[in-house]
Amino acid sequence: MMLNKFIGGPVIDQKIRKVYIVDPFEKFVCNFSCRYCIFGTPLTDTCPLSQDRFSRVSRDIGRFVLRRGVRGVNAFLVSPMGEPTLYPELPQLIRILKSFGKPVAIYTNSAGLLDDTIYNLLLNFDIVLFKLDSVYRDTVDSLNKPSMEIDPEKVVKRLIEFRRDYGRKMYLETVFVGGYNDSLDEAMELARAVKIVNPNKYFMVTPYLPPGRGVRPPDMNVLRMVYRDLSSYMPNRVYIIDQPGERLLDRKSDDPIEELIYVVNLYPLTLKAAVEYLEENGLPGMETIRELEELGDIRIVEWMGESYVVANTVSRMIKSG
Ligand code: SF4
Repeated sequence: MMLNKFIGGPVIDQKIRKVYIVDPFEKFVCNFSCRYCIFGTPLTDTCPLSQDRFSRVSRDIGRFVLRRGVRGVNAFLVSPMGEPTLYPELPQLIRILKSFGKPVAIYTNSAGLLDDTIYNLLLNFDIVLFKLDSVYRDTVDSLNKPSMEIDPEKVVKRLIEFRRDYGRKMYLETVFVGGYNDSLDEAMELARAVKIVNPNKYFMVTPYLPPGRGVRPPDMNVLRMVYRDLSSYMPNRVYIIDQPGERLLDRKSDDPIEELIYVVNLYPLTLKAAVEYLEENGLPGMETIRELEELGDIRIVEWMGESYVVANTVSRMIKSG
């Protein structure tokens, strides 16, 4: 495990396995403001060009890879605090990452599909994971809260085209939130669109993690029905994912404290899981958590009746180096 300004890891991503995470942003930039977002509310929806920042990003990545190498890592994952397609130097970043000879992956909220330049840029990645939370505009407006008009029908059309134009791994995910997109009618309508897009893998995500705003768990009966329906159409390609932080923890890490801090800077962890992880590694669980809290490395928050360990700052630790 290693921390750096703009690149970190490796971590075990549930969708791609072992990855280095690349985050070129310095603040939370997104053109959506999803109610379930673990980063809170975006500070802005634009990221201006910055030659100075890009020089620091490329230098950091180069040094990191020189020290750590890429053996045993499945991919570089461009997954910043926000929407990566808003990063103006994305074409140069892809070139740098590709030069290390590993696949380069990206997670995007799909809004960029409606722009031809971004659409073409996404074709350069080796793995692309798109988000599609609903095919209903009202739900997208209330759940994803985009800063511009998004017509989900057009997004679905572009996803179908992308699947046709793209010869590599295309993944799709939906975050299901109780009261927003978990009614049977709406979920089945979405499932119809997923079948037409026919991604290599489809992830049904249920993160009700702090600081989600007004979110609650989805109706699991509905999710199970959708899962069964889609699995019969796309066998072994549909997954339900919850508590992503717990699965990210590397159980064999040489430095469990650094590992824990790194992971909570990516996803909140339940206090129970954090304590168990430390104890599995021979450390006094709760005592260590309290010490890290006093040092300002983490915070404990109460959310929806559960205690969570979260990053201490809005900006993730990966940024502070
Ligand atoms: S698209 Fe992703 S980063 Fe942006 S607000 Fe939604 S969850 Fe957060």
